[in-house]
Amino acid sequence: QQRQYASESSLKTVTTDGQRIYLYINSGLLSSVDSETGVDSDGIGLYRTEILFMLKQCFPGEIEQLEIYRKVLKAAGDKPVVMRTLDVGGDKPLDYFPIIEDNPFLGWRGIRLSLDHPELFLIQLRAMLQAAIDTEQLHILLPMVSNLEEIDLSLIYLEQACQELTAELGKSISMPKVGIMLEVPVLLYQLDEVAQRVDFVSVGSNDLTQYLLAVDRNNPSVSPLFDSFHPGVLRALKFAVESCNQHQLPISVCGELAGEPIGAILLIAMGYEQLSMNQASLARINYLLRRVSKQELSVLLAQALRLNSGDDVKKLVTEYCEQRG
Ligand code: PEP
Ligand code: MG
Repeated sequence: QQRQYASESSLKTVTTDGQRIYLYINSGLLSSVDSETGVDSDGIGLYRTEILFMLKQCFPGEIEQLEIYRKVLKAAGDKPVVMRTLDVGGDKPLDYFPIIEDNPFLGWRGIRLSLDHPELFLIQLRAMLQAAIDTEQLHILLPMVSNLEEIDLSLIYLEQACQELTAELGKSISMPKVGIMLEVPVLLYQLDEVAQRVDFVSVGSNDLTQYLLAVDRNNPSVSPLFDSFHPGVLRALKFAVESCNQHQLPISVCGELAGEPIGAILLIAMGYEQLSMNQASLARINYLLRRVSKQELSVLLAQALRLNSGDDVKKLVTEYCEQRG
């Protein structure tokens, strides 16, 4: 079947009723970027910079980061690259920067850490901006945002980095597109204000599911409860895309859900038009979405949202897929 999927991988993702869907790759390792970008994706939808930091013995400096980011952008050709600022803490430790906490998932992670260490944050922003000089590809993504002040402060640091580089290089360095990860549920209710501040939103459905359900995404004892198809989680995802659409704020999904057939079907039904996933899922999701009608899916979604459990949702969508071969 892989061969069947691959036979269409160079074709654009368009539903049978003409809805263009954009499929991007999640990446973190440079070596994987090299091979992945040969595949016909619409770009890199999530470049997890923390992987680079996790592989080192100490914080990588500005030049070292710059060189790696430049290679990533180059490997993507002229396609967009969404670079996420350092997202350590929680389940992603740095040996050389130990964080001891009772509740790491509710602790010092993502943007919280960057904003408490602006010297590290600025080095990373400066490296990204310099790597992207003379390209239009760079999109900067802020992880684990939980309030508006974090966005405003991040933008101030980013402006500072642009001004510094403009002065140092004698060349105007302008602000790139900036977005936030939607993974802390409270921001669902502040998307109006978010839309006034950033250029795009990317839903981290792994963390959003974890925080909506209060279920540790890595704890095997509660893994049956980690259910991205929980009708309440699906309603939250639908609410997010509808709110963003009201503001013409581009929104994508970069959590694992986007690369799962049932997940991708439901997300397209809700109105998402951009999905970012592991490279291994790309050809299959493309093949699948080229065979569904968005209009038909909206009926399926309405049924799914009225069900009582994630298992019922999975059953319904699986039956739908089987009926259509
Ligand atoms: C997510 O939370 O869904 C996400 C994409 O980020 P990560 O898995 O890296 O936390
Ligand atoms: Mg996350």
